[in-house]
Amino acid sequence: MKKFGIIGPGAVGSVIAESLLQHGLQVHLLGRNAGEVRIERKGQLAESTLLVEELSRFETTLDYIFITVKGTQLTAVLPFVEKLSHENTVTIICQNGYGQLERITMPHTYQAVVYISGQKKDQTITHFRDRKLILPENEDTIALHQLVEGSDLDIQISPHYLHDIWFKLIVNLGINSVTALSRNTAIVVTNEKVRNLCESLIKEGMKIAHAEGIHFEKSTVQAIMDIYDGYPPQMGTSMYYDQLNRNPMEIDYIQGFLYRKSQKHHLDTPHVDTVYSLLVASEIR
Ligand code: NAP
Repeated sequence: MKKFGIIGPGAVGSVIAESLLQHGLQVHLLGRNAGEVRIERKGQLAESTLLVEELSRFETTLDYIFITVKGTQLTAVLPFVEKLSHENTVTIICQNGYGQLERITMPHTYQAVVYISGQKKDQTITHFRDRKLILPENEDTIALHQLVEGSDLDIQISPHYLHDIWFKLIVNLGINSVTALSRNTAIVVTNEKVRNLCESLIKEGMKIAHAEGIHFEKSTVQAIMDIYDGYPPQMGTSMYYDQLNRNPMEIDYIQGFLYRKSQKHHLDTPHVDTVYSLLVASEIR
């Protein structure tokens, strides 16, 4: 039987592990320390408690590894990923942003577009909604798709994978920037000035995507604003929570990634440049 390892027993990793375990697969959820995590769903009975094994003591070679730590924590886990891999191990990076693959030399490594909404507090994960991962189409991802078919983890192999990656990146660009910088929840998009800023960021994100060969319809601006309008006003983004808790934010793979691409193509993207600089500035201690 194929062996699965999930590195990072947080919101995304625990929900993936839960789906794979319920499907009868051999799954190891690996964290900093051995213990347990609990998954709760508001107003619903379905809850789980999952065993966590200590990554640094784990020795079993794995066939599939899902990296579900935050982008800022990636470098620390890569030596363990290498140690636990064989030559055909398939590694799936489950993180927001893009550009992580440029830093990884292991073959069979792919990045998922993650649609799993949840939040970890202490050892409890509140799973709000979704269990979807979008992956590029190749032999490895098709084989993975077949292994998990019938589970409640919705792995979609997308022929428009890069478009999907960039769409999520641009969605995150707007809402993560304005919530982290204002230290306020999604309620900020009710303000007209904030809406204008979001629209400018989305347009600049689309301009950078265009320079990279990824094209979006003009209607995408409104489509993304509609997504923001659908968020509960009190919803915080991960960057907002990281900012409040003074944890490192995933700036490098979202705003920083777009900033570097903009510079590379000599584009005029003043809003992206400004929010990126301010986010970097807010982390200077
Ligand atoms: P999270 O809840 O903070 O989970 C990360 C987990 O990784 C934590 O349990 C953390 O342990 C663990 N970890 C960190 N460093 C480690 C290490 N060196 N060794 C072992 N374990 C380590 O984060 P998340 O919300 O699941 O986010 C993961 C990624 O998915 C991020 O890129 C995020 O942007 C993306 N994403 C999240 C959501 C969401 O709704 N949560 C939605 C879409 C995409 P500690 O608890 O001990 O720090």
